[in-house]
Amino acid sequence: MLEVSGLSKRFGHFPAVSAVSFTLRKGEILGLIGPNGSGKSTTFNLIAGAMRPSSGSIRFEGTEIGGLPAHRICRMGLARTFQIPRPFRRLSLMENVMLAANYGNSGTLAKSDAQRRAERALDMVGLPAADGIEGLGAAALKKLELARALATGPRLLLADESLGGLDHAEMEHAALMLETIRTKLGITIVWVEHIMGLLMRIVDRVIVLDHGEKIFEGLPEAAAKDARVTEIYLGHGRRG
Ligand code: ADP
Ligand code: MG
Repeated sequence: MLEVSGLSKRFGHFPAVSAVSFTLRKGEILGLIGPNGSGKSTTFNLIAGAMRPSSGSIRFEGTEIGGLPAHRICRMGLARTFQIPRPFRRLSLMENVMLAANYGNSGTLAKSDAQRRAERALDMVGLPAADGIEGLGAAALKKLELARALATGPRLLLADESLGGLDHAEMEHAALMLETIRTKLGITIVWVEHIMGLLMRIVDRVIVLDHGEKIFEGLPEAAAKDARVTEIYLGHGRRG
């Protein structure tokens, strides 16, 4: 479904992502982990079209998408969430998700259709459509972020730090939600997180980035035993 090959991004001379390659099968949940600053969000930005790669190729369902604008990639069926949710504060919850539904469908949806899609997405993440946007806490904002991505109608979802800022019960809930999105909606997922914890129980495979380089790819159980991975995560607590 997704083939990333030799993907690199430099900011000036700084290599944020260096020759990263991986493939993703339809229906998979792939975990992408690594300490803060290891290039996870940049990888998402490159795949989703928010940034142009310095080099390398990204093929989505057989089509090269590297360097295409974000709206075109979204309309092809590839949606992403942002690590830091920034909803439109002047719009209602429902309007925010309707806007996303329209964004994913080239602005061509009838209002009733956008409404239906938004309702379905909000229902999926368990956010009451009537809730006000002002009082949303961290967990609700993460749900809204997911609902906006789902409303675009993706086949592939890139979820960036869906657990950030949540308490333990909320994290459990959010992790199960990603699993449900995969099983119920059949959406393939790449899930970025800087902590291993919960993610390791849900994902089929995991890739570990460090300083922009892929240092591990394999099963979660193998990652937990890998010397370089454990050095980062369990070593001396020096990073992440
Ligand atoms: P992660 O999501 O793994 O925490 P990022 O991909 O956000 O890491 O960042 C990787 C590195 O690239 C960091 O050192 C970060 O400071 C740098 N970086 C990210 N975005 C930019 C940017 N727009 N301009 C310059 N440097 C950036
Ligand atoms: Mg990040």
